[in-house]
Amino acid sequence: MTVSAGARLLEGGPIATEIRAGVAADVKAFVAAHGRPPALAVVVCGRDAPSMVYLERILKGCANAGIDGRLVEIPDGDASSQERAVVEALHRLNDDRQVAGIIVQMPLPTGVRLRPVVEAIDPAKDIDGIHPLNAGLLRLGWDGFVPATAHAALEMLHRSGVTIRGAEAVVIGRSPVVGMPAAFMLTREDATVTVCHSKTVDLADHVRRADIVVVAAGRPALVTGDMLKPGAVVIDVGINVVDDKLVGDVDFESAREVAGAITPVPGGVGPMTIACLLLNTLHAACMQNGLPTPKI
Ligand code: NAP
Repeated sequence: MTVSAGARLLEGGPIATEIRAGVAADVKAFVAAHGRPPALAVVVCGRDAPSMVYLERILKGCANAGIDGRLVEIPDGDASSQERAVVEALHRLNDDRQVAGIIVQMPLPTGVRLRPVVEAIDPAKDIDGIHPLNAGLLRLGWDGFVPATAHAALEMLHRSGVTIRGAEAVVIGRSPVVGMPAAFMLTREDATVTVCHSKTVDLADHVRRADIVVVAAGRPALVTGDMLKPGAVVIDVGINVVDDKLVGDVDFESAREVAGAITPVPGGVGPMTIACLLLNTLHAACMQNGLPTPKI
């Protein structure tokens, strides 16, 4: 993929590789000290094809980093027996000292309620930041686990040397797993943040003011070059399949003519998400064992 002279391509792959290498080195040190690797448990309730691909990538990432990735499959059944089985599995994983981090495959099958499931995760092992305690900590601007995709979007900005303090930032999308956590993180880092959503009147008017645009709507070509402020940094979180091709929420060809820096899809935020999950697993293992937070 090529970009115009003005737009820097923010690729997630090299940054993710750097993070994974740092995690692998620290996991090795953890194993030397504790005689066992930290474990990341992935709880799967119903086999939804696209998210199985994502979960398999997580398990592969664990193996490459030396983390003990464990798939915990919940047997098929009616919604209430599945919900009970997920909650029981989570309680067992909470009690297992070897398990440092837990994630649950989303979306849950129809009829399995989200709230009892997220509330059953030990917040200290909630490495994807979905437990209400972690969501509340983020809202208050305090430290806790944050959802991996929002974390990945922010890491792209940090590790690409983008100045967040004082920047006008527009986040498109207000979901609890991407848009809102990204907005809270940007606010915590002193950006002036506007959150846009499907009922926003004149999206272009907001986007045009932004130095940083984070797009997480799941709508191909929602943001086009003519909407952008020249030199804006564009982080495209969207993943859509159009004509059998993976595309983001930003019309890359027109946006790259105007943006100062832009993430491609694929190859932008995507590779960073799993790296952030691995990093959070290491953080959790260190916290649970009274070790300092790794500096990766
Ligand atoms: P979601 O829960 O469906 O939320 C989408 C958000 O976008 C909602 O807040 C919605 O507004 C808003 N929206 C929809 N159409 C809009 C429009 N025309 N104008 C402005 N806002 C609009 O999705 P999500 O889970 O946050 O995911 C967002 C995107 O990120 C998806 O493409 C998903 O595949 C991708 N994703 C990527 C990764 C990764 O690793 N790169 C990880 C997770 C998700 P309302 O609130 O008004 O409905």
